[in-house]
Amino acid sequence: MLLIFSASETGRQGTDMSRITSIIFDLDGTLYGSPEFALEINRVGSQGLALQLGIDPERADRLLSGAKTAILELTGLEATLSAACKELGGDLRQLHGYLAGHVSPETYLAPDDRVVEMLKRLGRDYALYIYTNNNRSLTESIMRLIGVEGLFREIFSIEDFWRAKPDRLALAKLFAAIGAEPVECLFVGDRFDVDLRLPEEHGCRVWFTPTAEELLALEKFCKEGEKND
Ligand SMILES: [Mg+2]
Repeated sequence: MLLIFSASETGRQGTDMSRITSIIFDLDGTLYGSPEFALEINRVGSQGLALQLGIDPERADRLLSGAKTAILELTGLEATLSAACKELGGDLRQLHGYLAGHVSPETYLAPDDRVVEMLKRLGRDYALYIYTNNNRSLTESIMRLIGVEGLFREIFSIEDFWRAKPDRLALAKLFAAIGAEPVECLFVGDRFDVDLRLPEEHGCRVWFTPTAEELLALEKFCKEGEKND
């Protein structure tokens, strides 16, 4: 059974932020929410996989859904498009090449000033990073459209490690790249299994943001933690 907890619900974490120097954000579904755009990514992903496997897109779509369900049943963890693609024998580089060339985020996304301003304020106290399973080209387009470009110290996209989240080796490389220990990191994401479970196992703090409401509560969480220093 898939269990999803927010940090506040689990009670596993206090609010002490004294050691946190870095906040690592997921992008899609975390810094913006657009179910329509998520559907578009999956639709184009099915198209790309269909071309790779020489089948029609509807069949590729059914195979991807089936693979995600199978991974969930096998591991108890939510599966990503990347994991389902690999499970079906697809090539991750080809998939992302196709996505980068055929997904147009322009019609779906717009800035949320509340998020932009919060990130600007958080950026004064913490080093902010993006860690996403998306490709660099789409990531940069999305960040421009939602008004957050230039607010992050570094962006880690699928091209950096070619190992989709959740992945232990990619996570170890990320810690090394940003020069921070796990206990100095706060991870923020909208899918607990994909974005937060592994960092939490490493001793990082995590903040679960299934909706914009939780994302906007992040600043209060950080501030209250700082008061406890
Ligand atoms: Mg996400």
